[in-house]
Amino acid sequence: MQQTSIYPDVTLITPTAQMSPSMHGGRAKCLQRLIRLDMPVPTTLALSFAAVQRCAKGQLPPVESLLEPFGEMPLLSVRPSSQDPDWGGPGAILNIGMNAVSHRHLTKRVGEAAATALYLRFVQSYAVHVARLDPEVFDFPNLTGIHALHAALDTFEAEAEEPFPQDVGVQLSEVLRSMARAWDGTSARLLREAKGAPVDAGLGLVVQAMALGVGDGESGSGVIQYVNATTGQPQVVGRYLSQSQGRDALNDKAGAIYLTSDQRGPALEDICPDVFAQLLAYGWTARSRLREEMQIEFTLEDGVLHILDAVRVQRSSRAQVQIAVDLASDGIIPREEAVMRVPSNALSEMLHRQVDPAAVRDVIVRGIAASPGAATGRIVLTAAEAQASAARGEACVLVRRETTPEDIRGMHAAQAVLTMRGGITSHAAVIGRGLGVPCVVGASDLTIDRKRGQIVAPGGRRFAVGETITIDGTTGTVLAGSPQMLEATLDASFQTLLSWADDFRDIGVRANADTPADAQTASNFAAEGIGLCRTEHMFFEGDRLGVMREMIFAETADDRRAVLDRLLPMQRNDFAELFAIMQGRPVCIRLFDMPLHEFLPYDKAGQRDLAEQLAMPLTAVTDRVQALSEYNPMLGMRGVRQGIAIPEIYEMQARAIFEAVADVAARGLVVQPEIMIPLISAMREVELIKVRVDSVARAVQSEMGVTFAFKLGVMVETPRAALRAQDIVKHASFLSFGTNDLTQMTYGLSRDDAGRFMSTYVQQGVYEEDPFHTLDLDGVGELLAIGAARGRAGRPDVVVSICGEHGGTRAAIGFCRAQGFNYVSCSPFRVPLARLSAAQLALEERLTGREGQASPALQH
Ligand code: PEP
Ligand code: MG
Repeated sequence: MQQTSIYPDVTLITPTAQMSPSMHGGRAKCLQRLIRLDMPVPTTLALSFAAVQRCAKGQLPPVESLLEPFGEMPLLSVRPSSQDPDWGGPGAILNIGMNAVSHRHLTKRVGEAAATALYLRFVQSYAVHVARLDPEVFDFPNLTGIHALHAALDTFEAEAEEPFPQDVGVQLSEVLRSMARAWDGTSARLLREAKGAPVDAGLGLVVQAMALGVGDGESGSGVIQYVNATTGQPQVVGRYLSQSQGRDALNDKAGAIYLTSDQRGPALEDICPDVFAQLLAYGWTARSRLREEMQIEFTLEDGVLHILDAVRVQRSSRAQVQIAVDLASDGIIPREEAVMRVPSNALSEMLHRQVDPAAVRDVIVRGIAASPGAATGRIVLTAAEAQASAARGEACVLVRRETTPEDIRGMHAAQAVLTMRGGITSHAAVIGRGLGVPCVVGASDLTIDRKRGQIVAPGGRRFAVGETITIDGTTGTVLAGSPQMLEATLDASFQTLLSWADDFRDIGVRANADTPADAQTASNFAAEGIGLCRTEHMFFEGDRLGVMREMIFAETADDRRAVLDRLLPMQRNDFAELFAIMQGRPVCIRLFDMPLHEFLPYDKAGQRDLAEQLAMPLTAVTDRVQALSEYNPMLGMRGVRQGIAIPEIYEMQARAIFEAVADVAARGLVVQPEIMIPLISAMREVELIKVRVDSVARAVQSEMGVTFAFKLGVMVETPRAALRAQDIVKHASFLSFGTNDLTQMTYGLSRDDAGRFMSTYVQQGVYEEDPFHTLDLDGVGELLAIGAARGRAGRPDVVVSICGEHGGTRAAIGFCRAQGFNYVSCSPFRVPLARLSAAQLALEERLTGREGQASPALQH
């Protein structure tokens, strides 16, 4: 066996040398794989992380042993080899070894022009990257060839106050030392940490014999890959440039030629068909044996092909999915691995339009990224203006201090929503995610100057109504103008990947859907049912708001019933549509939750209008508004409390649900209705509501001559409901944790006001994360665990789920799996992400026997 250990921690790369990415870096390990695949890789040495650390301290391996494998008069390159190639590293240095002697020697071999070009290139990169001299003084626009070389050597001597080093040992040592030190620099460290590298990430270096790429015969360099980086579809992509080195072919567009025969100009396939065929064969081998789509860097030296390097193809989110699916479809990787390879944020990018990462971003203000995706439109300040804009076919962005249910129609009409107040579970955020409308909330540095019809950004920048802005709900930023966008792309590979994910996951995924449009989206994304239909939003549709207001002003239960009878057919239609769309799958309808005062106008003008509509004196309206106002409405007359105090609303809703069940079933569709009671804190509440709901069910069955089954359950969103779950579950066949309210009540933290100090709290480490965004596993999680365990103790077959906004997050899904929950429910657009995350969590557990860690077999 060949001697591979040149010196401790310096290894000659051979098929059998002891090497690993965690000791020598990804590039070195990849080169060994290429060598094992019989690719013509020039002689290469790998310096381990430990060796490079010592180089940074000035303790270099003996340079003679480094040079020994490269023979007489070597010409070398040095490249970085970090553990994960995405973490980067210092730039490669080529042509180490060029000096006066090798210049003379090479002049004979490849001609003076080529030899001079190599030497000049080395002097310039050594001067700038190793001796750290000013790059501008090494630019000689009016000089070429040998004159430029002499100028470079003279300039080096003048600037560095010593001649350009002629000894290859000195050159190599200095290159190694400077690259090792560059890795320790602050900006390099920050950059790689931003890409996910650990603080102590190591750097390896590879020293490789140069394949020249210049000289006689066909000589040059190129880069080839076998897929399109945007679509992930098979396609030979790359360029070749005669008389060049490194990645020049990609930089010098003018001289570079295509690889595949092309009508637009000459191609490598035409001038060197054998080389091209060989490159295709190597590509196929690399794909099937390295189990990845690789980009290969190659050099031709007098017609002979050398493979210098291969890196994983950089790819868009869409290509990431396509490549993973194709590799699995071709039997190269198992489906499990394809599912593991795609990060859920890649799916999120595919689901929504995004600001092109290459676009110039003029950031006006930052807020909380509440609903992903990006959209551009003209500023409007009211829901009515948004609707008027939509009617004119003009894209608009609705800017509000905060949104209320009255704004829903405006939100439907707007391309994006921006609010100054609120957090991740505020009204605007919840509705935005439901609609798939990009949304930034809590942009508290922004103010609205209503008098002038402007929004005022930090630094006094003003944007008037009608001016164009862009909301980037993925990053939580507001941008001026209309930057370039990338369109959403849902292709067949997306569906295939998710169907595989479904085979591996072991927790259900439902959607929170309030409208037929939401339900359709949920159904398109293969949600297994609706886990939460918030019915109050239905009362703002069309002319229902007027009827609702009449009901609020009705004096007696009979009067209220009479008004609600007018809403009944509308609600029945709503539910029938949801049942029809989700046929065969459960639909969980939550009874009315919202405080009634939210249906009343809060300003004088609105109250005057209402007085006119109801033919009442203004004082009657203001008195009712006054009577309904509460100091703390979130803890006041809402949820089940209204169901008990004003039973007519729940009765009407139960009837609408049951009549819709009967109607839809009569059309031959299978319906699985579930009724959920919000804000429960005591068993008696459930008992009282159950008696009424059961009696409405019996009445509808006898009136319509049908029978149907339904489930009644409760939302666990008060701490007491979690603690008393064993009792409460006696009358409830399912428990669904509403973690928005539960977080609010566990922390004593208003979900609508927390945005004002949340970033300070997170910055100062009071909370690790915004608990409305990332489920607090320690506190709220404990209540979930207690509630689920006590619920099961009271009723072993109880169905347990989560339907708060946390439901679609990986952390919450992991927690719910561990606690044996039956399903999670989340916004329709999060359903694909939840399906993928659930599958990945199940696979991680299967492969490692542990939760939350990927198997080494699946890391790539
Ligand atoms: C919750 O509180 O978690 C919940 C799902 O209900 P809502 O957000 O409508 O209060
Ligand atoms: Mg709630």
